[in-house]
Amino acid sequence: MKYKTKSVTIADLLDPMACWILGAGASYDCDSSNELMLPLTCDMMPPDLVKERLSEELTRFIENGLLPGSTVQEALGHRIENTIDCIRGLCFDQNPTVVEAATYCLETIVSVIADNLSLWQVVVAKGTGKGFGAENYLWLSSHVCSNPSLSLITLNYDELLDTTFRIARHWDLANPIQYGAWENAVTAFIEKRVPLQEESGVFVKLHGTLRLYSCHNPCCSMYREPVEVRKPNELEIIGIVPGGEPHEKCINCAKSLHELILPPGHNKTQGEGAYFDFVYSKATQALANASVWIALGYSFPDYDLDMRELMSNALELRNTTSSDRHRMLIFDPNALAIGERLTAAFGPLLEPVCIKETFSGLVKKITNS
Ligand SMILES: [Zn+2]
Repeated sequence: MKYKTKSVTIADLLDPMACWILGAGASYDCDSSNELMLPLTCDMMPPDLVKERLSEELTRFIENGLLPGSTVQEALGHRIENTIDCIRGLCFDQNPTVVEAATYCLETIVSVIADNLSLWQVVVAKGTGKGFGAENYLWLSSHVCSNPSLSLITLNYDELLDTTFRIARHWDLANPIQYGAWENAVTAFIEKRVPLQEESGVFVKLHGTLRLYSCHNPCCSMYREPVEVRKPNELEIIGIVPGGEPHEKCINCAKSLHELILPPGHNKTQGEGAYFDFVYSKATQALANASVWIALGYSFPDYDLDMRELMSNALELRNTTSSDRHRMLIFDPNALAIGERLTAAFGPLLEPVCIKETFSGLVKKITNS
């Protein structure tokens, strides 16, 4: 297979030393002609799910200049990640009224997103016919399982990809080495143990996951400390019931726990910061060790300072051994604009190769080649 614009071959895509990056734009992109597809990047918070009080509090924050954007729709639309980060910061405000309102907004937004993702991942996993509905996710996890040196960084909060690895293990279809190492490392982190050093490539979820939780009670000593509640049961493993249990309680203060959704930004607590250091060091090493980066549906937005810093650190580490421009294949319907942003950020260190293609379209081409 060759793409018209640039010489990207099937061998480039199947490079066993690659690091794949799965962005939010690839969430639930299973088949562009399929009505199951959920356009997460532009509509994470459907207006009919936005509660009245949330709308009122956000309007007040916007009027006081505390949030980006000028309307609630904008704040909950394409600026959703900035909005969440700002609200996370407002949870530390001096004014208790602001803290109370921000805590309410954060809990509500996270709950709506988590419920939505949990519901949709079940719908997508079931598909419309027999078997698992998201063939591109299955292909990606099977490709990762077959190539132990390969790494995969996902920016998705949902558990659709996780489910494909668990299915592989459950039915003994493949050994999900990278995913198993990730599960062990997360458990070790939560239990404050030193994780084993992997010999293989890695799987990393950078911006949180529906599998982990945290307490949002500012008076609790476990405030926003990532916790692992339990292992998935059999029905969750095969993806036919929602993965999250939204009514789990904090063992310290007995208030409800909330899913760990950590957008890019600096408004993190100490516990979240430690979690970030843990996932970021894994991701930096994976990027630095990879021969090529392959991004699916990752838009490299200006506000994603975390990922910018991570890529920059990885390029710096690489440069100690190589002076070549590092190749990054970008698959996205807006690939050209993404390539321009990457060139502006990294200049001659990076060689973006832009291909207008979706995740599902790419996998179809590979499997049909
Ligand atoms: Zn608590």
